[in-house]
Amino acid sequence: MYPNTDLHIAGRWRSGAESRTLPVLNPATGETIGQCAVATTADLDEALEAAGRAFPQWRSVAPFERCKRMRRAADLLRERVDAIARVMTMEQGKPLAEAKVETLAAADIIDWFAEEGKRAYGRVIPARADGVLQAVVKEPVGPVACFTPWNFPINQAVRKISAALCTGCTVILKGPEDTPASCAELVRAFLDAGIPGDALSLVYGDPGEISAYLIPHPVIRKISFTGSTVVGKKLAALAGEHMKRATMELGGHAPAIVFGDADVEKAVSVLAPSKFRNAGQVCVSPTRFLVHDSVFDRFVQGFSDFAKGVKVGDGLDPETKMGPLIHSRRLDAIESLTADAESAGATLRTGGKRIGNRGNFFEPTVFTEVPLSSRLMNEEPFGPVAIINRFSDDDEAFAEANRLPYGLAAYAYTRSVERSARVMNQVESGMISINHHGLALPEVPFGGVKDSGYGSEGGPEALDAYLVTKFVTQANF
Ligand code: NAD
Repeated sequence: MYPNTDLHIAGRWRSGAESRTLPVLNPATGETIGQCAVATTADLDEALEAAGRAFPQWRSVAPFERCKRMRRAADLLRERVDAIARVMTMEQGKPLAEAKVETLAAADIIDWFAEEGKRAYGRVIPARADGVLQAVVKEPVGPVACFTPWNFPINQAVRKISAALCTGCTVILKGPEDTPASCAELVRAFLDAGIPGDALSLVYGDPGEISAYLIPHPVIRKISFTGSTVVGKKLAALAGEHMKRATMELGGHAPAIVFGDADVEKAVSVLAPSKFRNAGQVCVSPTRFLVHDSVFDRFVQGFSDFAKGVKVGDGLDPETKMGPLIHSRRLDAIESLTADAESAGATLRTGGKRIGNRGNFFEPTVFTEVPLSSRLMNEEPFGPVAIINRFSDDDEAFAEANRLPYGLAAYAYTRSVERSARVMNQVESGMISINHHGLALPEVPFGGVKDSGYGSEGGPEALDAYLVTKFVTQANF
């Protein structure tokens, strides 16, 4: 039922040159459910050669034709959604309904980028001299290397592949070894839809070895990475050393400010499900809830009641609302963070423990009065843990929101236009969502500031990252 995953290199699905594989585990059971092929340097060389060979051909395919093939890929994902979602749930753990939403959202992302690729406009600059034409032309940057994680096995990859292909770039994707099969199904949809085999390779293996080989390689002109800030800084440094353009979509520790004039019930009804979605393994997950004294008790009560009611289990069970963590390392990390918070004096309102000893399940957890000195207030939990602290003065909330080096997503709830404006102006964050959850649509920018990275993975800004600017000036004979 669960497929083994091959590499896709130069138009062929195949094992790695040394036929080595990595086991894929179901995080709900801990059982090995399949194998994932491992790429060697020789395999990477073949993928690099294919990406370099295909680039001049793919960039010369008309944007209208590129669009048609990409939209066919989107339709294939829609046709195959049930099978793909099942595979994703088995390897990643998220509830089947969430896996379906992710797959269908990926189809929308492809459609949007496919259309937008037709509009990679340049411009004409009025010249100072008669008979001179000054043109700005946008060209694809070249072959790109993309590195994507396991939390959204399809959606982290589809943004990078779509932006690259629609602008005429070729791609080598290093997919997530923990969740390889659903990511491979995304690549298969593109290939079945007519994207040339040389233009899109998929590799797996040792992430450190692969990135260290691909990033400096002269064929690769740009890299795009989604993952932790620690790894992102290393890859950005390597890219800088070799003068490669880079997009970095890294970690966060999102503040959610609930002011005294907020619709508290609405805030709970949006923020609480958002916290526990994908077991909190979401880079824009709200984490530090900063709640005004006057509404603190109501918010904590509503949020904790929601957390207690979340049905945790195997994502294949239709009743399940939250699945397991991806691997035992994350379980250890969450156990260590919550133990530290408790010993630092935080109040545990609900949860706080591993569930059973089979699979990587952890209870939806709510802490209040968490001291600033605790690790939980400073390290991204990337798990189902909410921190709810109180504030009495707006300035205090703004200072806390901006205290950490992260700046990916921020949330606020208020009925005051003035407070909304302060949130917009003063919170240091790449994305701010006020009075609702409105992030991550294909047509809007997606990215962070400060240690959360740079560049955007949505909206027209995402195309810019794959385009270089060429200025041409020409005088009449
Ligand atoms: P990890 O740091 O081992 O891996 C995170 C991701 O980076 C994985 O996909 C991994 O394959 C990749 N990676 C690791 N080292 C790499 C390298 N040298 N070159 C290229 N890719 C590399 O940690 P993990 O336990 O899997 O996840 C833990 C942390 O990762 C989380 O706390 C979170 O901060 C971060 N993370 C962020 C996102 C995101 O959406 N921004 C997604 C997944 C993980």
